[in-house]
Amino acid sequence: MRVQGKGTMRGISWVVVWAGICVPGWLEAGQPGPTEPLSVGFAQTDITPDCASDRPVYLAGYLPGRRATGVHDPLAARGVVLHHGGRKLAFVSVDLIGLQLETVDRIRKQLQDYDQVTVASTHNHSGPDVIGIWGKSFFKRGVDDAYLKRVRDAVVACVRKAETTLQKVRGRFGTADDARLVHDSRLPVVVDPRIRVLEFTGIENGRRAGLLVQWNCHPESLESKNRQVTADFPAVVVETLQKQYGCPVVYFSGAIGGLMAPPHTLVEDGRTLHRGTWEFRRTYGRLVAQLASKAVDKARPLSLTPFRCANERLYVPVRNPWYRAARVTGVVRRKSYAWTGDPRERGSQMKFLHATRIGAIETEVGYWQLGELGLAMIPGELYPELLEGKIDQPEGADLPDAPLEPAVAQLLPTRHWMLVGLANDEIGYLIPARQWDRQPPYAYGRRRSQYGEINSCGPDSARLVLESLRRCTGKVAEAVAAAQ
Ligand SMILES: [Zn+2]
Repeated sequence: MRVQGKGTMRGISWVVVWAGICVPGWLEAGQPGPTEPLSVGFAQTDITPDCASDRPVYLAGYLPGRRATGVHDPLAARGVVLHHGGRKLAFVSVDLIGLQLETVDRIRKQLQDYDQVTVASTHNHSGPDVIGIWGKSFFKRGVDDAYLKRVRDAVVACVRKAETTLQKVRGRFGTADDARLVHDSRLPVVVDPRIRVLEFTGIENGRRAGLLVQWNCHPESLESKNRQVTADFPAVVVETLQKQYGCPVVYFSGAIGGLMAPPHTLVEDGRTLHRGTWEFRRTYGRLVAQLASKAVDKARPLSLTPFRCANERLYVPVRNPWYRAARVTGVVRRKSYAWTGDPRERGSQMKFLHATRIGAIETEVGYWQLGELGLAMIPGELYPELLEGKIDQPEGADLPDAPLEPAVAQLLPTRHWMLVGLANDEIGYLIPARQWDRQPPYAYGRRRSQYGEINSCGPDSARLVLESLRRCTGKVAEAVAAAQ
């Protein structure tokens, strides 16, 4: 999430969500016959807000008060269902800044026949506020509850519609890298330059059935001056690939924290295009689509069954005073629980914020192992440093002795994987603790703190989330061992 102002105001932040308890839940899906093929279905539903009515639509991202003036292009929920051996998984990506866990739980109540449902947000900065902090002012909640209900219904409808298109498929997975397409505005410069594409092909007709595309960049090509509803560059990626391959495409965001954004300029046909223009958006989207097609060209077959999935509810302490303020003012409505010191133990629900007691929010981490492919479900904006353990330990950072977080790539047992950022929740930035830098002297010889911490629950949230991922992968490994 980025809340940004001008100059020194940039980053006045807040956010999100509150407090937690801990109820681990784990689910093993399926031991069907080895020869039974996987079935998938794709669908898309509309979640464009109505800007013509009297109700104002406030755009999420940057500073509050960005009232939408109209719709440039529609917002969508795009999803895929995967069925195998009586087990059913649903994955839906929405063109929004970050749906909260409570909303996803309400969606799941309508999809109880599914073993797993993940709803991820692309982190679009030109869609309606669905968290609360981008209303008319810092003190006005920006969420239209009727719109949120429409989103819930549209996600459910997307899954039901996808079921009507089920076909037997085989899968291929490919990747391609281009670091020039991601700009990191925070030191150290560490990006995830890899696009990851999962391709499904119909067994009976040999045609492409759909693509899942993971790319790692804030949908911020239009910057904060934009006042029109748009799905930003991901819609261009989807449209370009749909035309090229004649199949549905589901786009989602990976590790975008710390802070992954499009480059400031692009050069096309000798002309320099600047971020903040529609032309830049179109060109950037096409370049990402081109990278995705390189990944398709390089894709290799892999088995996607059986399904083994685990998720865990956990409690993350909210140490960020801005987040607390957002709760006090009522712009964010999220339950807060007393922090117990154990992320798996829910404290008592806190009705009022305490000066001396830290509240925690409930969130969720998940891991799906589809045959040879792993999918990590991360409830926020992970710093890419945490993918491969490229954590910097600069002099001047606040917590040089903080425990190191486990790296995603080491936690995941499969060689091939995808990372779903903002999966089922948005709890802000997940920052390596040893890069936490709020107090002077500042790292890298800077005069001021870098942007980031102000939009994070705290320096321990990344570790708590990744340790939870470790428990999820451990559960899956146990189930795999038990099945052998
Ligand atoms: Zn962000």
